[in-house]
Amino acid sequence: MSLYGGIEGGGTKFVCAVGTAPDDVRAEVRFNTTTPEETLGRAIAFFREQHAQEPLNAIGIACFGPIDPHPTSPTFGHVTTTPKPGWAHTDVAGAVHQALGLPVGMDTDVNVAALGEQRWGAAQGLDTFIYLTVGTGIGGGGMANGELLHGLMHPEMGHLRVPHDWLADPYPGCCPYHGDCLEGLACGPAIEERWQTRGEHLPPDHPAWPLEAHYLALGLVNAILLFSPQRIVIGGGVMSQAQLLPRIHVEVPKLLNGYLQASAVNEEISDYIVPPALDARAGVLGAIALAERVHQGRSPAVGMCR
Ligand code: ZN
Repeated sequence: MSLYGGIEGGGTKFVCAVGTAPDDVRAEVRFNTTTPEETLGRAIAFFREQHAQEPLNAIGIACFGPIDPHPTSPTFGHVTTTPKPGWAHTDVAGAVHQALGLPVGMDTDVNVAALGEQRWGAAQGLDTFIYLTVGTGIGGGGMANGELLHGLMHPEMGHLRVPHDWLADPYPGCCPYHGDCLEGLACGPAIEERWQTRGEHLPPDHPAWPLEAHYLALGLVNAILLFSPQRIVIGGGVMSQAQLLPRIHVEVPKLLNGYLQASAVNEEISDYIVPPALDARAGVLGAIALAERVHQGRSPAVGMCR
């Protein structure tokens, strides 16, 4: 059985694992994200040791962004303009490839988590779907026709513009670029700033939640109309509020107002907008799934031509 390495490279921590599937993770290590040299050095040391025990076929990386996901670009696999100190223009995939001599694929954290859900989780069998995470920020990825979503760069669904009723909600939003984009109105810090207390301290019947569901539903309606996804997987810290998803299930059909004649977005909406099945494991498992795709020649990698 082919063995793969996966890296979930987050802004605060790195998780590295070796395995073939969720029930076959052979080794795993996690550590804080510090400087690129130290952090990538620890990841490389882990995989070098694992590779010596049993050869790995490829490595997949889910990386905080923004990143360059274009295989023909000279900066493919680099973190680009991140404000994270020391990390701007770091060649993450190249460093891992050069140290280990293995093909290395890399994509955004949300695209890789989407891939994990498609391979083993809530989007199995689908080729066109959206994965959204609502937490400290709002990020979105997914697939269209079996390919991870890229284009000019990669989707930034958190920054969709949504209608903002200033009378009903005078909060200006917290996005440093747009103020009241979707993320600016609906991410965890926006809830905290608007209501002057953290979301998890607000009771389930607090007016924060219908408002939150409304904004998220507006974003999802835009995504539904734009991508025509077969399903939407939505997770993240804010979505752990159990009252939110049922409210979104009511709000989305209301906003669509019967325009889409599909049972999925009407009577079967609770099977259409679903929580992730892999939860916090989606990133590192998705990275293993990305390595598998690289090995199968279905995703580009540093060190391989597509
Ligand atoms: Zn924004």
